[in-house]
Amino acid sequence: MIRVDNITKRFGGIRAVDDCSLHVTKGSITGLIGPNGAGKSTLFNIIAGTFPPDGGSVQLDGVDVTGWPAHRLFRAGLARTFQIAHEFARMTVLENLLAVPAGQAGENLLTAWTGWARVRREEAAIRQRAEAVLGELRLEHVAHELAGNLSGGQKKLVELARTMMWQPKVVLLDEIGAGVNRTLLSEIAGEIERLNRDHGYTFFVIEHDMDLIARLCHPVIVMAEGRVLTQGSMAEIRRNEAVIEAYLGG
Ligand code: ADP
Ligand code: MG
Repeated sequence: MIRVDNITKRFGGIRAVDDCSLHVTKGSITGLIGPNGAGKSTLFNIIAGTFPPDGGSVQLDGVDVTGWPAHRLFRAGLARTFQIAHEFARMTVLENLLAVPAGQAGENLLTAWTGWARVRREEAAIRQRAEAVLGELRLEHVAHELAGNLSGGQKKLVELARTMMWQPKVVLLDEIGAGVNRTLLSEIAGEIERLNRDHGYTFFVIEHDMDLIARLCHPVIVMAEGRVLTQGSMAEIRRNEAVIEAYLGG
């Protein structure tokens, strides 16, 4: 689903990502771990189109998408979570989902040169999709709550729901567990597993919590110093000398 070949990204003298190659298989929940500064977030930013790489290529479902801007990648099926922005806290959960196409795609349906009938049809389709996503994430009962009033875990689910509005081929999650307590984290993990199993979503997950990674992800890819160190099941990785070295020796 995602194929990264020989990606390099420098910031000044630092090679944040250094000739890195990896792939994420369709239908998998692939984990990405590594010590702080390994280049995980930088790699995600390149895949998601936040900035282009200095070298190498990215393919999404067989299409070369290297250097594509984020909104175009989003339309092509690559979604990543964003924290619910301040202004969205005063909107309901449903409104948060309805706002995704305009906000994320950088387009405004109402100002587009389309007839009103077509706008109406598109609005109806977007609303239908929002309701389906709320159903998939079992958030129907909070559809009309203000997003700002939700619990931390529910906010995370709304973030996830927003990424799903355009039926993504793959969802990138960068530390979705940060600042979330263990119980909620376990619930979110359960939702991700369910979306993967029952709805076929592919996930690519950066996470610090090793127990969560062990439960959710196969395979797990280990990055260190901008490159892939190894990959495999969490059990294999825990036994790997080079991994132990990278974490303890770094
Ligand atoms: P990780 O997510 O694995 O902790 P990052 O991708 O955030 O690693 O960082 C990799 C390296 O790149 C680090 O040395 C970091 O300081 C550097 N880096 C990341 N983003 C920037 C940036 N925008 N400007 C300068 N240096 C950066
Ligand atoms: Mg990071």
